Amino acid sequence: MVVELISVGTEILLGNIVNTNAAFLAEQCAYLGLSCFYQTTVGDNEERLAETLHTALKRSDVIILSGGLGPTRDDLTKEVAAKVLGKSMYMDEKQKESIKTFFEKRGLPLTDNNWKQALIPEGAIILYNDNGTAPGIIMEEGEKTVILLPGPPNELLPMFKKDVYDYLNRKTPNTISSQVVKICGMGESQVEDMVKDLMENDNPTLAPYAKTGEVHLRVTAMAENDKEAKKLTKPVVKELKSRIGSYIYTTNPDVTLEEAVVDLLDKNHLTFCTAESCTGGMLAARLVNVPGVSEVFKEGMITYSNKAKRNRLGVKKGTLAKYGAVSEQVAKEMAKGGCFFTKSDVCVAVTGIAGPDGGTEEKPVGLVYIACNVCGKVTVKEYHFSGNRAKIRENTVSSALTLMRLCVLEYFSEITFGKKEK
Ligand code: ATP
Repeated sequence: MVVELISVGTEILLGNIVNTNAAFLAEQCAYLGLSCFYQTTVGDNEERLAETLHTALKRSDVIILSGGLGPTRDDLTKEVAAKVLGKSMYMDEKQKESIKTFFEKRGLPLTDNNWKQALIPEGAIILYNDNGTAPGIIMEEGEKTVILLPGPPNELLPMFKKDVYDYLNRKTPNTISSQVVKICGMGESQVEDMVKDLMENDNPTLAPYAKTGEVHLRVTAMAENDKEAKKLTKPVVKELKSRIGSYIYTTNPDVTLEEAVVDLLDKNHLTFCTAESCTGGMLAARLVNVPGVSEVFKEGMITYSNKAKRNRLGVKKGTLAKYGAVSEQVAKEMAKGGCFFTKSDVCVAVTGIAGPDGGTEEKPVGLVYIACNVCGKVTVKEYHFSGNRAKIRENTVSSALTLMRLCVLEYFSEITFGKKEK
């Protein structure tokens, strides 16, 4: 089955917003085993939108349009799609009610143009929107399906996951089952090298995706039904576990690296603190993403200046003078001081040069030391990150989370990894 994406919005054409919806939808369609040959972006223009949809209907089976479902005059997607498919519209009372409730709950004024969002093309399937007022719409016409989704990603993503994914899965002749394996502490090429023979299989397929500081492997199988498809993915996931071992932090698609770290600390009854220099609180912020982190998180310290490193963490003046703030020795003292002063079991400390200035030949931009103290056992690692300041800081945070995880696992003797390796 061939799917085609149409992103509607002049702001996408002008480059004012990045088309993340298309990236998300294309990835999801690939998981579903649908072929996507065309993606188009079109502005808020009735004629060009109609022409784009006509073209798509000639060459694809399913057309997913995103954006332009709002209440204003330039939001034309639903009206144009209904016209192209020759459907009249009616006022859906349930949708009208849900718009009313949405505005009342938020104490917002309801204007007449909002009722436009309760107009539904005859015979369409309505996808009620839990996060906004524009419903999603599925129109079936002969062999063709046209799906309309709201533009805001915080509305489109949950709607797709809740309703559209299963709808499309049911439409495909075969069922697709996919399983993700999330890895940290290994680079993409290293992972690929370990599993390259498995990547040659057609069913299930194995595809790697590199994220900042992580590699995700997706195992996707196609079969007559879900049970058969799962039968195909299961042995591959088992094989990946045996090859990659503890570097896999989860096989649950919804679990993030910070959640896995917090869960590991919690399970082992370990409290922790953070001592950050170049990341300036980003590490603590990632960890605080996790609900319930207060059970284990004692304190986050941003010790940007040398004075703060001395006063808050007890880093020795001599160490700073001899080795400099960005050094293995200072990172180690920060991690030791963090545990001592906050009475935490674990402290992860980072110090580095995020740039763009401040680098030298000996200590270039991107040089970062991360230390992790687990109950007195301190591990320090040296990293060389590339990219701009934001990228270096982002990479530092992911690596700090990874180091925390590996150090705790090592402390409990689950793994041995190259300590102090450069
Ligand atoms: P609304 O009811 O909010 O008007 P809509 O369905 O009409 O929803 P648009 O007006 O097209 O959607 O877009 C609303 C906002 O959603 C945009 O300003 C933008 O922030 C975001 N958005 C729209 N399309 C995309 C896209 N393809 N990728 C990422 N963000 C998008």
